[in-house]
Amino acid sequence: MCAIKTEDHSRYPMAEVLVNVAAQDVDRTFDYLIPPALSDQLQKGARVVVPFGPRKVQGYVLNIKDVHEEPQHRLKSVEQVLDEKPPLTEELIELGHWMKREYTCLLVSAMEAMIPAVLKAKTKRKVTYQNGKRQTTYEVADKVTQRVQTFVKLCVPEQEVGHHLEKLHAKAVKQRKVLTTLAERQQAWLLSDLLAACDTTLSTVKALEEKGLVQRVKKEKRRDPYAAHHFERSSPLPLTEEQQQALQQITAQVDRQESRTFLVHGVTGSGKTELYLQSIAYILEQGKEAIVLVPEISLTPQMVERFKGRFGEQVAVLHSRLSSGERYDEWRRIRDGQVKVAIGARSALFAPFQNLGLIIIDEEHESSYKQEESPKYHARDVAIFRAQYHQVPVVLGSATPTLESFARAQKGVYQLISLHQRIQGSQLPEVEVVDMRQELKAGNRTMFSRPLYEKINACLERREQMVLFLNRRGYNTFVMCRDCGYVAECPHCDISLTFHKRDGAHRCHYCGYEERQLSVCPQCESEHIRFFGTGTQKVEEELYKHFPGIRVIRMDVDTTQKKGAHEQHLQAFREQKADCLLGTQMIAKGLDFERVTLVGVIAADALLHLPDFRAAEKTFQLLTQVSGRAGRHELPGKVVVQSYTPDHYSIETASKHDYNTFYQLEMKNRRQRGYPPYYFLTLITFSHPDLPYLVKVCEQSVQWVKQQVSPNTIVLGPVASPIPRIKDRYRYQCMIKYRDEPQLGGLLTQLIERNDIHINKNDLILQVDRNPQILM
Ligand code: ADP
Ligand code: ZN
Ligand code: ZN
Repeated sequence: MCAIKTEDHSRYPMAEVLVNVAAQDVDRTFDYLIPPALSDQLQKGARVVVPFGPRKVQGYVLNIKDVHEEPQHRLKSVEQVLDEKPPLTEELIELGHWMKREYTCLLVSAMEAMIPAVLKAKTKRKVTYQNGKRQTTYEVADKVTQRVQTFVKLCVPEQEVGHHLEKLHAKAVKQRKVLTTLAERQQAWLLSDLLAACDTTLSTVKALEEKGLVQRVKKEKRRDPYAAHHFERSSPLPLTEEQQQALQQITAQVDRQESRTFLVHGVTGSGKTELYLQSIAYILEQGKEAIVLVPEISLTPQMVERFKGRFGEQVAVLHSRLSSGERYDEWRRIRDGQVKVAIGARSALFAPFQNLGLIIIDEEHESSYKQEESPKYHARDVAIFRAQYHQVPVVLGSATPTLESFARAQKGVYQLISLHQRIQGSQLPEVEVVDMRQELKAGNRTMFSRPLYEKINACLERREQMVLFLNRRGYNTFVMCRDCGYVAECPHCDISLTFHKRDGAHRCHYCGYEERQLSVCPQCESEHIRFFGTGTQKVEEELYKHFPGIRVIRMDVDTTQKKGAHEQHLQAFREQKADCLLGTQMIAKGLDFERVTLVGVIAADALLHLPDFRAAEKTFQLLTQVSGRAGRHELPGKVVVQSYTPDHYSIETASKHDYNTFYQLEMKNRRQRGYPPYYFLTLITFSHPDLPYLVKVCEQSVQWVKQQVSPNTIVLGPVASPIPRIKDRYRYQCMIKYRDEPQLGGLLTQLIERNDIHINKNDLILQVDRNPQILM
């Protein structure tokens, strides 16, 4: 028989603490005793300070338990509790464990991804000298900053103020002034305002305080980044038939209290955002909360205004341009239940709501939803995890869904909702594709084709505005023939070969295939085969040269680094202080300008020949988005796309706004080549300062992986990474292509464990990327 001990002295409350040390071998919880003095304050999910070896470190309490037997060896105790209100909820802790399994990341990186930066304290190493002896101590510095303001308030009833005034010394003029001022306005004054209003100093207030007449109180002031903005209140619009049906499907799912993923496929201007707003209104009525993810780039004032305008104070906005203090305050408004809707970029997904009713991911095809540093998670997967936890719907929206999502919708894994019509009945703009090979043949060596040149001039004459787009990513990685548009591709992988200046070779970075540098085009024998590329600055110069008097606003990484620069440029363009907005990716989406009637894509090929199996898909998405910028209002819009491969199906279908045909053709391609959505991909990257050592470890690892996976799985590599060396570390990679490999997560964890000795002793870094987005 086993007796249950109930006496308190036989209970040992313990915390399972995940220490904030990013290392494989300590990436688990350790038990710490909870001293009686802390037991009331300490909750699961809180941050604590614990002794760990010679140091003190911060950690997360992932569980609290009672142990009924005296611990075998002496346990250390929790030293300090950093949070009264834990930043990690039960759900987020569970999510962290899931992320570790799913993404083969450290548990501690998963937890860190979920909390605001200011809560990620670092230990400070302090060296002191005592009697000539060197002593090292470690302190955990809590970076939390709160802005505190001091207020002054009356401590006596107003009707008694007169009586107290009489009792004051005749000469205490300032004290009288302060007292009457406080009595007049029947609320506390901000100390600094009060002192200014009474033209006095703190000593006056202190004197009154000693007499027990007034009191200073400190109140925290939360930063509100949108305090200065006024948002026009908006009400729900009467929905179109299509929108109405879409809304019904979503609300019916909410009522069923079951998780389900919807894919809303609708062209720009088909009323997706209005649909999101009304879906959110529905769950707010039920006292629930919503998360809305939008790409960082489209977190423009226009977008924020639509949500703040509809839901006012209930909305928190999270984006990277906020200071870490501002972010922290927005985050606390979410945690403390002061807001009901969180809108933001990827990380807003971890908003610590407890009664979540809906998650929306707008522009679901955006690559920024994948985090590229550890934990390498995809927002879509995490959203689905949270939605299942709460048994609520996820809504993915896009005019150009990813092939993965659309294929899932075709199979019924997601529920497809299509919005076919633009709300205002306006037509999608006409797209003209210009063949740049013909321009060259006709003797035009400038970067503006004749049709684009004419249209720019006409636009300037009509005093309307234009957006010119140049994609800079991918420049200088490939070599193209200007006469026929030929670009070297890997015969095995169907992606462009990457040119390596160092040894003048063209290489495939998926499988390692290699070709020598070309001096003539293998297709047409032309000598006009060279690097492709130009920068925005060059385009700007050319614009001034060819169109005297044109006013250009250039937006690229160089001109938008300063805080607020992004908005300022857009505002200036909106106020028509320029004729032309010239820029990279960042101007491609979410913007809506009434007077823009011309959109020009300077070189569609730059994206098309990225050494990436998604190059065609990205080209289609981008062209569709930039075309969406023209003619959104009364003025009709025109789009000109310049290309050396104008008959490529991604360019052709995009110019006809034909998603379905593009989808069919691209799916065929993916099936033939064994790419997603037919196959899953996992990329493993190894890095080390010593090349021969790295290659050896890599080859052994890849050999081992090949033996473990199922026969249908393809393991490519090891090959040098597209960027073969970063910060003096060589990089090698291996790609796994598979259809069904349910044990892969565990296998990758084993791979890391097998390489333990290389990782811990010899500085090897091994990174796993499940469903990688960037393969460059
Ligand atoms: P999307 O998000 O698909 O680009 P929006 O929701 O932004 O579409 O809608 C495009 C425009 O049409 C916006 O100006 C919006 O206010 C307006 N709109 C949306 N739904 C309706 C509706 N039911 N009635 C009238 N106007 C609408
Ligand atoms: Zn050629
Ligand atoms: Zn290849």
